[in-house]
Amino acid sequence: MIELNNISRIFQKDGGIEVKGLDDVSLSISKGEFIAIIGPSGSGKSTLLNTLGFLDRPTSGQYLFGGKQLSGKHTSALAKVRNQEIGFVFQSFHLLNNVTALENVELPLIYSDKKDIQKLAEAALVSVGLEDRMDHKPNELSGGQQQRVAIARALVNQPSLILADEPTGNLDSKSSDEILQIFNDLNRQGKTIIMITHEAEIAQKAKRIIRISDGKVVSDQPSLTVEA
Ligand code: ADP
Ligand code: MG
Repeated sequence: MIELNNISRIFQKDGGIEVKGLDDVSLSISKGEFIAIIGPSGSGKSTLLNTLGFLDRPTSGQYLFGGKQLSGKHTSALAKVRNQEIGFVFQSFHLLNNVTALENVELPLIYSDKKDIQKLAEAALVSVGLEDRMDHKPNELSGGQQQRVAIARALVNQPSLILADEPTGNLDSKSSDEILQIFNDLNRQGKTIIMITHEAEIAQKAKRIIRISDGKVVSDQPSLTVEA
């Protein structure tokens, strides 16, 4: 589904200093995988995830998504593929605070030509167990519930790929387990999940663990063979 070949991302800092966010990364990701990306702070995890979701463009290298070369594509073409194929989940939820859970989940559909937006949003919220919280605003929900709203919003366009940047980073362990259980279920339904974490215990819930350090992939193994 995804092929990265020799991807580098060089950031220009003040004073002309260059930082390698990603340094010659090559990866192959198949449909239906559940991957954890781990590594220390500043190692390039978010840069990798943003690159995978075309929120950031590599400085060099090749990116194939679904067999198609993305490098030369315009931003608008990338945005269209992103909206159809990818759902994002972030550490701090990124919900709109002054509207309800239901309205948050409807947002990605507003500019689509889909009918029955409300029904689709309700179904997404039901799928994450929030049928009785749809009319609540984010500040009336726990952190775990807010993250479930964010997951429903990520799912409402029925993407094939979920990209999650430290999705449990702001949550207690019980809520974290609930989020991981949802990812597990989604993966069993065939969705590809790529999740950043810096906790080994959480990474073990994925099937494959990719470890990043200084912008490079330093290990890439099935989770059961990686030491916790
Ligand atoms: P992680 O998510 O693993 O903490 P990041 O991918 O955010 O790491 O960052 C990797 C490196 O790239 C860091 O040195 C960071 O400072 C740098 N970096 C990331 N984004 C930018 C940016 N937009 N501008 C300049 N430097 C950046
Ligand atoms: Mg990060």
